[in-house]
Amino acid sequence: MFKRILIANRGEIAIRIINAARELGIESVAIFHEVDKKMPFVMNADFAYQLQSDTPKSGYLDIEQIIDIAKNSGCEAIHPGYGFLSENAKFSQACNDANIKFIGPKPHSIEVMGSKTEARILMDKAGVPIVPGTKEKIENFDEAKEIANKIGYPILLKAAAGGGGKGMRLVHKEEEFIESYQAAQREAIKSFGDDLVYMEKYIINPKHIEIQVIADQHGNIVHLGERDCSIQRRHQKVIEEAPSVVLDEDLRNRMGEVAVNAARACNYEGVGTIEFLLDLNKDFYFLEMNTRLQVEHPVTELVTNVDLAKEQIKVAYGSKLPFTQEDIKIQGFAIECRIYAEDPLNNFLPSIGKINYLQSPSGNGVRVDGGIESQDEISIHFDPMISKLITYAQTRDEALDKMKTALKNYKIIGFNNIIPFLSKVMDDNTFRNEWFDTSFIDKSFDNRILENDKIADNEDLALISSFMYLKNKNKKILPSTEHKISNWKNLSFKK
Ligand code: ADP
Repeated sequence: MFKRILIANRGEIAIRIINAARELGIESVAIFHEVDKKMPFVMNADFAYQLQSDTPKSGYLDIEQIIDIAKNSGCEAIHPGYGFLSENAKFSQACNDANIKFIGPKPHSIEVMGSKTEARILMDKAGVPIVPGTKEKIENFDEAKEIANKIGYPILLKAAAGGGGKGMRLVHKEEEFIESYQAAQREAIKSFGDDLVYMEKYIINPKHIEIQVIADQHGNIVHLGERDCSIQRRHQKVIEEAPSVVLDEDLRNRMGEVAVNAARACNYEGVGTIEFLLDLNKDFYFLEMNTRLQVEHPVTELVTNVDLAKEQIKVAYGSKLPFTQEDIKIQGFAIECRIYAEDPLNNFLPSIGKINYLQSPSGNGVRVDGGIESQDEISIHFDPMISKLITYAQTRDEALDKMKTALKNYKIIGFNNIIPFLSKVMDDNTFRNEWFDTSFIDKSFDNRILENDKIADNEDLALISSFMYLKNKNKKILPSTEHKISNWKNLSFKK
């Protein structure tokens, strides 16, 4: 096994990987920007190196510097986490060139799956159903409009290099086509430096269902079932669960098989996710492949009992998968809520600030993947995710009830966060009992119901604030002679 690996990331995912590595007997090297120097991931790693960069973010994207640190610190491999350089083919190649194992797929797999159009061409060839639409750049408007009419409006214009929900434009009718195309292209250039825009049929009320796959270097590829990630804002996930209530065994097997074929078609190695849209007829269409460990991997870990972070490192080392497809059994139900510092009453706009008070929930079936402590900052430099809260139980209802309790026990003071919103979703009838899809937040969820609760929540938080104030105040003013022996101490004296 590797002796030492570098983690080219920060926050909760860096901690997740440090722990996985430690369990495998591997030492970890963290890299960090000055603004992160007191973060738990820096403290937890066996070694930590400070990055030199103009901005905090650019340090974590500096391929040359990261490879230098890996070489100088004696690392045999680099784990990129998610985000940052995790889906950067040049980084994967630079690692290869430096004789350092990139814990992830080969550059070619990243490259082909990184372009939505190239991926659509490859998947189509491999017999994977893709969303109807084009596979090339739109250059001739008349032709494009003809295709759009054939597919039927509404259609979605998408940037081939798109990601993070950016570079998409919904077009309702032909008259809007050119203007929307130009806007999509401007956004594509600004966000990704690539003007390639293509079109997809806009699937109405779809579920976002994705299949987790893992491939070793010996040709074995196994899928680990699905995740339902339909609860999204700005086309980005906030709640994920496994298994999905709308998949039966037959559909799970079919989607799983297609996902394995998709991974095989791009010579995949490591953990990856094939994303699909599932429509009301239960027809599914390839959306994209994420060639890395996903934020929402914990729900799959809980229902399959497979440690994806550890298996990912093991297959990167060259180990054979220790299980076959037949060994994978889905057991129980898991749900993840991403705890974001965002204001649900203000269009989920990010909030920033210092965490004055943090109390994380715990208990049977409760997992918190976090990377932030009290007094740490949520800044403008990075994604405003505070942590991931995951619950596991035998049934969906039980897992949701557990989540409600865990959310109630989660106290964060310092800035707005989406906990009140998440709590309400756990009670929502559509979410609990009906077909909920990617339009849930916009269409089915009424934010006004949060307004009333805000008062109750504020009272709760005000209570904690005043308690903390009094506690600290009393600490200061009580002369030492007045300290009383607590009841607990009296009890133990009696023993
Ligand atoms: P990104 O790479 O920016 O995350 P994706 O292609 O993965 O973009 O899509 C993100 C989300 O956008 C999907 O989960 C879905 O909610 C919505 N979406 C994307 N394509 C379509 C489509 N053709 N029809 C309906 N919704 C779509």
